[in-house]
Amino acid sequence: DETVVPKKNIGFKEVSEITFEEEVVEVDETRQPSSLVFIGHVDAGKSTICGNLMFMTGMVDERTTEKFKQEAKEKNRDSWWLAYVMDINDDEKSKGKTVEVGRATMETPTKRYTIFDAPGHKNYVPDMIMGAAMADVAALVISARKGEFEAGFERDGQTREHAQLARSLGVSKLVVVVNKMDEETVQWNEARYNDIVSGVTPFLIEQCGYKREDLIFIPISGLNGQNIEKLTPACTWYQGPTLIEILDNIEPPKRNADGPLRVPVLDKMKDRGVVAFGKVESGVIKIGSKLAVMPNNLKCQVVGIYNCKLELVRYANPGENIQIKVRMIDDENLINKGDVLCPYDNLAPLTDLFEAELSILELLPHRPIITPGYKSMMHLHTISDEIVIQTLAGVYELDGSGKEYLKKNPKYCKSGSKVIVKISTRVPVCLEKYEFIEHMGRFTLRDEGRTIALGKVLRYKPTVVKKV
Ligand code: GDP
Repeated sequence: DETVVPKKNIGFKEVSEITFEEEVVEVDETRQPSSLVFIGHVDAGKSTICGNLMFMTGMVDERTTEKFKQEAKEKNRDSWWLAYVMDINDDEKSKGKTVEVGRATMETPTKRYTIFDAPGHKNYVPDMIMGAAMADVAALVISARKGEFEAGFERDGQTREHAQLARSLGVSKLVVVVNKMDEETVQWNEARYNDIVSGVTPFLIEQCGYKREDLIFIPISGLNGQNIEKLTPACTWYQGPTLIEILDNIEPPKRNADGPLRVPVLDKMKDRGVVAFGKVESGVIKIGSKLAVMPNNLKCQVVGIYNCKLELVRYANPGENIQIKVRMIDDENLINKGDVLCPYDNLAPLTDLFEAELSILELLPHRPIITPGYKSMMHLHTISDEIVIQTLAGVYELDGSGKEYLKKNPKYCKSGSKVIVKISTRVPVCLEKYEFIEHMGRFTLRDEGRTIALGKVLRYKPTVVKKV
């Protein structure tokens, strides 16, 4: 069971010295890298808030803001912020790079955030998953406008699914941004704010699994920029902190700089060679690093690293969202979304059969149980692919005294259960045990556009990889 290594790889030679035309910028070690995803129902105000955050933290100047606001209006684009980000990347876009999730950067006194703006429409949930899979912190935007909070929080509204997904994808801190609190809508009505907070809290704790101390609530007006950078006198009952202070205070999850290098590839473009996008989940990537692109086990060498501000840097720490320029034998299709960059001598595990713990959410009405042979889509780090549940090894049940025990080999399992399963993939994929690298060992299963289960990788059967 060996993966075939394409012939093209033979004869790849590293270069010993790498030279640059651009200026190399020192890595900013004074700010911790972190990533933030905006989630919530369509029209809650996510893009508006992103835009104002960037403006207020000095990432976009007033003239540029005005220019893009105007342009977005003319082109009937609903978000000037996204228009701005996309404009930076117009060059990349014309080279065929698709923008799946909007990206931007924001700096607070102690953090450097990469911001992902997840589209709110139902069809875009997979993109939202990608955004959340990359994020350390999520901001759940809720509109306080009469009727809008209610619509977003309905059974089919995105508020619920997004919040649940974000939790399952590893986001442990959730900033609940109660937006549209201004004069035009609810006149900073404290009772309205309290109703929303007490309306969503039980759901977030009981059904999503957030802890009370991981939830932070704030009333703002994204449109007027109130309570984002400064507290507004119009809201007498909220004493702070501001949204920027909140974001500055959140500790990103611990990542292991001494661990093996792992960079799941989110996207790539062909521009000045091959450039891969991704977040360093473990280890430190350096210019000159000789890496393997798994699962194809292709050699490559890092010849450029661009930080989230697109500056050339010599290395990137875990947690950084970067673009990596690599040299390889053949530029065509050799790096793909879902691949993992890792050292030659410490390859990311490859498998097509693994054991996982699944928390089953709500199954589809016409497929109310899971039996061996059940097919669904799996989203794991940057991978989206079809899987088959091969075996049900056990289901957790409660005994007479209310203690959990594992009942072996159940015939089927249903909504709400916690089970141990064996899962097979169509082709070998790179993953890690959940306990080793969390972000590469957790996944979601989706069926017909609905999230049906959350999973953690317990162990895997390694696929043998031929040395090159
Ligand atoms: P998204 O779909 O969540 O990204 O929402 P947008 O940022 O595109 O905003 C949707 C609409 O709500 C736009 O017409 C905004 O102008 C409006 N909006 C956003 N934030 C506020 C706010 O704080 N107050 C008011 N009154 N309107 C807002």
